[in-house]
Amino acid sequence: MKKHNFYAGPSILSAYTIEETAKAIKDFAGTGLSILEISHRSKEFQAVVDEAVALFKELLEVPEGYHVLFLGGGASTQFYMVPFNMLEKKAAYVNTGTWATNAIKAAKFFGDVEVLASSEEFNFNRIPKLGKDYTIPTDCDYFHYTSNNTIYGTETRVDLDSPIPMVCDMSSDIFSRPVDVSKYALIYGGAQKNLAPAGVTFVIVKEDALGKVTRPLPAMIDYRTHIKKGSMYNTPPVLPIYSALMTLRYYKEIGGIKVMEKMDLDKAAKLYDEIDRNKLFRGTVATEDRSIMNVCFVMNPDYVDLEKDFAEFAASKGLVGIKGHRSVGGFRASLYNALPMESVDALVDAMKEFEAKH
Ligand SMILES: *Cc1c(COP(=O)(O)O)cnc(C)c1O
Repeated sequence: MKKHNFYAGPSILSAYTIEETAKAIKDFAGTGLSILEISHRSKEFQAVVDEAVALFKELLEVPEGYHVLFLGGGASTQFYMVPFNMLEKKAAYVNTGTWATNAIKAAKFFGDVEVLASSEEFNFNRIPKLGKDYTIPTDCDYFHYTSNNTIYGTETRVDLDSPIPMVCDMSSDIFSRPVDVSKYALIYGGAQKNLAPAGVTFVIVKEDALGKVTRPLPAMIDYRTHIKKGSMYNTPPVLPIYSALMTLRYYKEIGGIKVMEKMDLDKAAKLYDEIDRNKLFRGTVATEDRSIMNVCFVMNPDYVDLEKDFAEFAASKGLVGIKGHRSVGGFRASLYNALPMESVDALVDAMKEFEAKH
């Protein structure tokens, strides 16, 4: 049976990414060696990193003065690497969920953290609004937020305006919309949601946002080391970077970010329409903050007893990974770029069929 992969991360990758990675595991770039055993210093792998950086910059229209890095450690390492490099006295954060909470906790080791707003009292089912719920103080070193809250299914799909350097965790919605990179000092994310298998973290950093803290920085933690060495200071995650390049080539081939954004919006609209229409289900987040990447929904109060039945019914239809995160419950369907409309149709059909049965 065909499987429809709705996992939140690691998550679905394009068939092209998987096929090309499989080929390179057998024979990488005609070297007669596997990508698994090649030196990261080989000219063939250097070409992979160079092309991945160039395509990343091209697709996201990264302006001059910014560097794209491919590092290890996951987005969670960025939670402390950012303040290590950028927090001298005080930083401002917005708390929109588990990942933002973790970022705030990590930053507190380095200085004062002002939490400007939080939606924790609503179990993070909405996003506090800049200008209405909070303003960004000018006496902080930077302002940090999370663009897409993977667990709770909320998303900020605009680039905020900050009077101070702005840092954003875009782990789960990078490449789902055009981004005005020039508004940010730094953007980071684990690549395992919309780009690559687990193991590589992308960082887009503005060179002149660095070098402003007085604390000494170990080489591995200093972004400037990785800029200087072109992400090759230590052994980078070779295989995930290769797969990331394949995904970037695929993104370019299908027409770039605007084309993907249109597909992502269409997929999300179809699923939210069904959630709103179907008497068995309801969405969990404020309508205006609904994520187009991670769609969270639960059974309506009269039908909560059917949750387990629907989970089993969905599994019988080949729908994989729709169990909601334990902090929300119910269901979560992740609609990353590589997920075809056909899979959304399969989920919507299952919801309709299940409704008709009850
Ligand atoms: C998955 C995720 C993380 C954590 O990423 P790791 O690579 O596992 O550290 C952080 N932030 C967001 C928004 C995520 O979706």
